[in-house]
Amino acid sequence: MNTPEIWINLAYLVAGVLFIFGLKGLTHPKTARRGNLLGATGMLVAVVATLCHTQVLSYTLIIVGMVIGAGVGAFLARWVQMTAMPQMVALFNGLGGAASALVAGAELLRDSMAPEGSAVQSLTVADLAPKSIAIGVSGLIGALTLTGSFIAFSKLQEIWFKKPFKLKFHYVINLGLTLVVILLGIALAMNPLGGVGNLCFWGIIIAAGALGVLLVAPIGGADMPVVIALLNSYSGLAAAATGFVLQNSVLIISGSLVGASGVILTTIMCKAMNRSLFNVLFGVMAADGEGPSDDIYEGKVKWTSPEEVGILFESAQRVVIVPGYGLAVAQAQHAVRELAQELKRRGAEVEYGIHPVAGRMPGHMNVLLAEADVEYDKLKDLDEINPTFPETDVVLVIGANDVVNPLARTDPQSPIAGMPILDVDKARTVVVIKRSLSPGYAGIANPLFAMDNTLMLKSDGKVAMVDILAAVRDV
Ligand code: NDP
Repeated sequence: MNTPEIWINLAYLVAGVLFIFGLKGLTHPKTARRGNLLGATGMLVAVVATLCHTQVLSYTLIIVGMVIGAGVGAFLARWVQMTAMPQMVALFNGLGGAASALVAGAELLRDSMAPEGSAVQSLTVADLAPKSIAIGVSGLIGALTLTGSFIAFSKLQEIWFKKPFKLKFHYVINLGLTLVVILLGIALAMNPLGGVGNLCFWGIIIAAGALGVLLVAPIGGADMPVVIALLNSYSGLAAAATGFVLQNSVLIISGSLVGASGVILTTIMCKAMNRSLFNVLFGVMAADGEGPSDDIYEGKVKWTSPEEVGILFESAQRVVIVPGYGLAVAQAQHAVRELAQELKRRGAEVEYGIHPVAGRMPGHMNVLLAEADVEYDKLKDLDEINPTFPETDVVLVIGANDVVNPLARTDPQSPIAGMPILDVDKARTVVVIKRSLSPGYAGIANPLFAMDNTLMLKSDGKVAMVDILAAVRDV
């Protein structure tokens, strides 16, 4: 290793340490900003160190790439709605996977085009085996992540595969493609320096790309958060494999961190949705039942008004606010905080019940409420808030539906059977704010709306908050 390379590797080490401290910071909202800054600084250090590498051939190309990438990124950051963030994350994952696969492929091409008698050409198949295997793994995971992420994007954006899609011998085809990838990988490892190796690599890309489509297509909407977390993990693993190909320590470290944190998030999401990782990996659906029809509401729904809710709050000692996807659509987070402050001022205890998959991305509600400066210690997760519902006077459900659907507890045939939910139906009074009786993401009716202790307020989430606040102040 020459002197510049020693410095570059030292800088990579610093970057790796900054990534780890950055992640540690991200584990708590209070330290999250600092964590983000540390992670970004680590990335800056890594990029600058890489640019100092003697192997850089054209700074012009790099600058053009950076300008185009930054332009597209800035445009998307301003243009994409908060509610469309999950599909954005899916796209980023996919492009990350593609980049890793392409870099690995370029390295393979470079080796096979190296002149006769060069160092790499004089290596044996056995010497090159670890590198060829890493190239194959990078191609496999990268291509699978790319196509799987685009299908996830398409599902969330409701373009294609809105409904789960399965071919006739779906799992047999998946198995066949996996075998093809393994065989091509072996052929690549045995021919690491010639045209055959390159052909095998592109064969892996095509087969893995098809596998990515077939793995994600049969997965229903309710499992999408898990899939996105898993694809995030895959994109990290692809980067780590490419790090082995290039012998680039910072890529190995950062890829492994993304891979590991993606797996941890996947496990948390699986638990939150009562799905086993095995089922998600093999595209096995949750219960295929359809849930009850809208008839369950017939003559049982009690509609209310903001004024009536204002009166209800007059005597409420304990209030729990349960936000859902509709809160994000209505952008009601600031109005919610104002109402909560007013209730607190009047002596009520106010907490928020946050379901891990409320909204359309992991942590969606936490991000929205943090944006509105809601005190973080008032946000309670399922385990903390559920035992408190029987002692809660009023639960205000704003634009949440599936995450408060009692069918998950009571109907084993329901598509959301077994998913842990917020037991709001156990509170003394539940006020549900939404614009109609239409179902949520899982597409099933919700018996909560027809329960004796439930009042429905037909309104946009933000308008309802403003109206209830006015009513509370008038009482
Ligand atoms: P849901 O999708 O179950 O329900 C949202 C409700 O919000 C709808 O019933 C809708 O009813 C209402 N709504 C929409 N717009 C407004 C508005 N402007 N004002 C008031 N209400 C509105 O949301 P939940 O948060 O309860 O559940 C999340 C679902 O999304 C789960 O099934 C989860 O699995 C899935 N999911 C979660 C992801 C995640 O990572 N968090 C990612 C992808 C999917 P109406 O039209 O009548 O107003």
